[in-house]
Amino acid sequence: MHNDDELLKQIEQHIHELAVNIGERPTGSVANRRAENYITQIFRRNGFQVELQKFNCIDWEKNRTTLTIKNAEVPAEPAPYSLPCDIRSSIEAIANFSQLEKADLGGKIAVLRGELTQETLMPKNFRFYNPEHHQKIISLLEEKNPAAIVTASLSDEHLVSIFEDGDLNIPSAVVSQQNENIILQSNLPIHLKINSKRKNTTGANVIARKNQTGRHKFVVTAHFDTKPGTPGALDNATGVALLLALSEIYRDTVPEDVNIELVAFNGEDYFSTPGQVTYLDTYGIEFNQIELAINCDGLGLSNSKIGISLMECPKSYRDRIESVKQVFRNIEMLPPWYQGDHMLFASAQVPTLAITSTGIFQLMDTVIHTEKDRLSLVEPELIREACFFIKEIMNSWEKI
Ligand SMILES: [Zn+2]
Repeated sequence: MHNDDELLKQIEQHIHELAVNIGERPTGSVANRRAENYITQIFRRNGFQVELQKFNCIDWEKNRTTLTIKNAEVPAEPAPYSLPCDIRSSIEAIANFSQLEKADLGGKIAVLRGELTQETLMPKNFRFYNPEHHQKIISLLEEKNPAAIVTASLSDEHLVSIFEDGDLNIPSAVVSQQNENIILQSNLPIHLKINSKRKNTTGANVIARKNQTGRHKFVVTAHFDTKPGTPGALDNATGVALLLALSEIYRDTVPEDVNIELVAFNGEDYFSTPGQVTYLDTYGIEFNQIELAINCDGLGLSNSKIGISLMECPKSYRDRIESVKQVFRNIEMLPPWYQGDHMLFASAQVPTLAITSTGIFQLMDTVIHTEKDRLSLVEPELIREACFFIKEIMNSWEKI
């Protein structure tokens, strides 16, 4: 048996390993593979059967990008996953959809602005939320085939491109709004040099199973990849620590009727969510066997509560989970939110419980996906509490 302190220590160790020792771990990177190995090893140590579910992806590398007008350099960054280029060319300003339709962009650098650069464009092969007008902009760009694209940043703080797409084969760089105005006013040819590399590689989901003959199947999920450049403590070392802690709790025994699947997803923060797509393609057909899916992302923010939300749950489930919740001090019910791996299940009508931190939504634009998402923001006791909450939920089913 485990005592609580030992479990807390292990949770701390898992977060430290992922967010400090390994650090940023984008899908396809060497660090991502290290995280995959760590998770696999803990699951196996705790007597779970492990499946590594492989998929193809890109390991993307970047070095310095330069954008020069005459002899002046303008700060620029490549769009994530952009192809490399070294182009000197005239520019063509494109401010709206109809200009794009009429433009002749062959050999030129297209400078996009205005209504075309108001929001992130969903990657061309993204399977879930993917608006038609995004796809139209992308297919028009492919048809017009400019030598490269320059866009204005979505953010004033960092250079954020509207593109993040390893399937788009036009090199693309992002500059500040102000510098884009300078480029357009000068109307001179520019020299754009993007030093980047797409390497084909593989990644994997780590799926751990125990007691597959149990009547009640619970799937608990958390993604272990990060965006480039963030140690990903809250997003999502803490969720993975929870999965690993659950495997510790069930090391020796699992309730007779409970069939547990723990899925460390790989790709929530990668442009095409390849781990999620692979899992859905293989196991989507068995989703009707899942009693309850539980996803953890953004859990464990200190000075915050554990925020939970229920989707696609019948009233009996809601009542049961509400009554389990009563004995936990730091758990609060939230309205549903529609981004994250829980949607994989909820949109297939699987009863779903999403777990996060009540304070996480305020950090989305400032901390999450940046180098500030560090260990110091995490309160490990909240992860232990969430872990026992999940255990009690499973116990409450066992009695039915
Ligand atoms: Zn996340």
